Amino acid sequence: MKKAGQTNTETSRIRDILAKSLEMHVLNLTDVSALLELRDRELWQEIFDAARRVKEKVYGKRIVLFAPLYLSNECMNDCMYCGFRTGNSNAARKTLSAEDAVEEAKLLAGRGYKRLLLVASEHTKLTGIEYIERSVDAIYKNSDIRILHANTAPMKADDFKRLKDCGIGVYQCFQETYHIPTYRSMHPTGPKSDYAWRLSVMDRAIAAGFEDVGMGVLLGLYDWRWEVGALIAHCRRLISKYGFGPHTLSVPRLQPAQGANMNWKYRVSDDDLKKITAIYRLALPYVGVVVSTREHARMRDELLTIGASQISAGSKTSPSGYMHDGDTEQFEIGDTRSLEEVIGKIASLGFMPSLCTACYREGRSGERFRRLAEKEAIKNFCRENAVLSLKEYVEDCASGDVKGQLQKLLNDEIAKCTNGLAEKFNLIEAGKRDVHV
Ligand code: SAM
Ligand code: SF4
Repeated sequence: MKKAGQTNTETSRIRDILAKSLEMHVLNLTDVSALLELRDRELWQEIFDAARRVKEKVYGKRIVLFAPLYLSNECMNDCMYCGFRTGNSNAARKTLSAEDAVEEAKLLAGRGYKRLLLVASEHTKLTGIEYIERSVDAIYKNSDIRILHANTAPMKADDFKRLKDCGIGVYQCFQETYHIPTYRSMHPTGPKSDYAWRLSVMDRAIAAGFEDVGMGVLLGLYDWRWEVGALIAHCRRLISKYGFGPHTLSVPRLQPAQGANMNWKYRVSDDDLKKITAIYRLALPYVGVVVSTREHARMRDELLTIGASQISAGSKTSPSGYMHDGDTEQFEIGDTRSLEEVIGKIASLGFMPSLCTACYREGRSGERFRRLAEKEAIKNFCRENAVLSLKEYVEDCASGDVKGQLQKLLNDEIAKCTNGLAEKFNLIEAGKRDVHV
């Protein structure tokens, strides 16, 4: 049993760490392991509270929304946990044509999305860089989607350059697990079986010009404390080598998937997922922490209060999934609420839903974005842009109770604001779109 003196030392050590993070310093690995080791439930409440405060210092109340668009489920790999694996012989396979990708993007734009994450399985012939370039180009030219990010297999540096040049904002790739024996058993065949190729993916993406990269581990493959420590060590290595780390960290938690072959020995509990979300937020105060619809609604609502800053909504995880069911999904969705329902819920929790994509258009990305985030200045842009994006949403898409709720929220913003917001609202009502600062 702990003595009182020991507890006080632990409490003051943890409070020092929280203070460091609240001053926007990246935590070192000793700090991170102190958080990982902590069992005291009361102190964890303080940590969750600090994570929320750090998030609000950087981004204010805004929560960014997006959806994934799955381009293909035809894959050469056999990742044990994934519905797209070669070993899933019952899978209904499909790779979208550029025209199909545009149809999905238009459908999503019609629901109010402005930002999509393109997701693709790995297939040298079907989903190589030429295919991705064609899809990106077609979506930008033929839909109202304003920014595309990508979660694709690792590429060589020349292909990353093409991916950047065709207009992808953030390149995202998860290491899945840093634990080599687990990595080998989970990825027995295919290009993904090469651990070193995956581990070095961000070095090649950064060398090719991507300053905004998204990282993560697939939580549930191995001991989460070990994985979180390893991921933060990886981020710190990027920071010391390139002067910057990831733009986002995601918290993907293992979900059931058709045809998967896995055990649940390292299942991550809801309580532990909250801790992981808070640790990412505190360890790298300025990163975007991304929560997907893998999580059920209550969990997602809770994670918003402890540091998450971006969430997907209304997602489907199969190619053509927004147009119709039938093709194999990557994994089961935990939160099936529509974008409109999620927007309503976010607003009712006291946050500001945001469909904004302004930073990418205004060159506030990479180093510039980070400097603004560290100086706690990005939230000033975020708030106004979130409000302007919601005004567009109300004009074009919202309905029923959510429309009324958002209209009230916008009226409150007008009442608080003195910087020409009402004039910008008039422009939007008159039909102008993409009004932002
Ligand atoms: N195929 C590429 C790859 O593996 O890197 C691109 C993206 S893959 C379609 C997206 C991510 O989904 C994977 O990196 C993995 O972490 C996650 N994923 C796969 N199966 C999952 C499951 N059963 N539950 C939760 N996430 C899963
Ligand atoms: Fe293919 Fe990615 Fe699924 Fe692995 S996780 S089987 S690489 S789609």
